[in-house]
Amino acid sequence: MITTDLELVINSLKRGEIVSIPTETVYGLAGNALKEESVDLIFNLKKRPAFNPLIVHIPDVNFLDRVAENIPDPAKLLANHFWPGPLTLILKKKASIPNRVTAGKDTVAVRVPNHPLTLELLKKLPFPLAAPSANPFGSISPTLAIHVYKYFGDKIPFILDGGSCKSGLESTIIGFENETPVLYRHGALALEKIKEVIGPVKELIKNDQNPQAPGMLSKHYAPQTETIRSENILETIANFPNKKIGVLSFQKIELSEEITHQEILSEKGHLEEAARNLYAALHRLDQLQLELIVVPYFPNHGLGKTINDRLQRAIQK
Ligand code: AMP
Ligand code: MG
Repeated sequence: MITTDLELVINSLKRGEIVSIPTETVYGLAGNALKEESVDLIFNLKKRPAFNPLIVHIPDVNFLDRVAENIPDPAKLLANHFWPGPLTLILKKKASIPNRVTAGKDTVAVRVPNHPLTLELLKKLPFPLAAPSANPFGSISPTLAIHVYKYFGDKIPFILDGGSCKSGLESTIIGFENETPVLYRHGALALEKIKEVIGPVKELIKNDQNPQAPGMLSKHYAPQTETIRSENILETIANFPNKKIGVLSFQKIELSEEITHQEILSEKGHLEEAARNLYAALHRLDQLQLELIVVPYFPNHGLGKTINDRLQRAIQK
């Protein structure tokens, strides 16, 4: 059931059930992070491989000591600077965090989400929430309550409706090798902004065999419909004259009349707006029984990097 009633959701979570929560990045599938049975339910619902750890959501930076220890100085700087916000930190875990949450790792992923309803929820709960994105493993992340409902229906009792997600992309993930900051996943907080606060950040190379952060698996965030990327959308369309094609574009492009489905992410060419609209546009295109979706390359700076990363994963087989 889609609801805005916080009390219903609080009681459900206290019973150990799984609910969906809004955040500024995407909707999450949340349960008591300290209760192994709840965490199990999340993995089962998502059909998420057990090696893929979850993010723990806390109400504020003061809660950090209850989930993590030996926190490096740059992590404290980042937490104080960007929380609540779309930044996840990988830190040494406290023993109270079940191994199931962290996929057996001795580190835990933590963040304070920036959504008023969910912050209020977290402040009223006696435990933190483990929450990956509320989509079946490998499919497009949800940015509206109705996306979550389409994926899970009544398999979860409540979807807390917080409107459409303001950032619309998953959080940026930063870990530490000793004290050196390492980027594990591009996300809704541009890397440039992080570097302004802590200086250089090492960018980790993707490794499918042993993903440090499974957001790094090459196939992820993918539509069901065949999707290809193109430097020149008009030229690409001309190569498939008999296909029913949908186009995702950054700004408006003039298309021939046969192409009736174009999703424009930002008329004015703003990357933040494009990021916010990306997943909802992919959800819409994916529902049109198209034979092909053509997606562009974005300018490779700021959030354009994150969008490019997600589009690249959307085309992997
Ligand atoms: P999702 O919300 O579905 O994007 O999943 C959360 C992401 O957090 C996953 O892709 C994981 O890669 C990442 N993550 C969670 N815990 C850890 C950890 N201990 N080390 C590295 N990455 C993590
Ligand atoms: Mg996900």
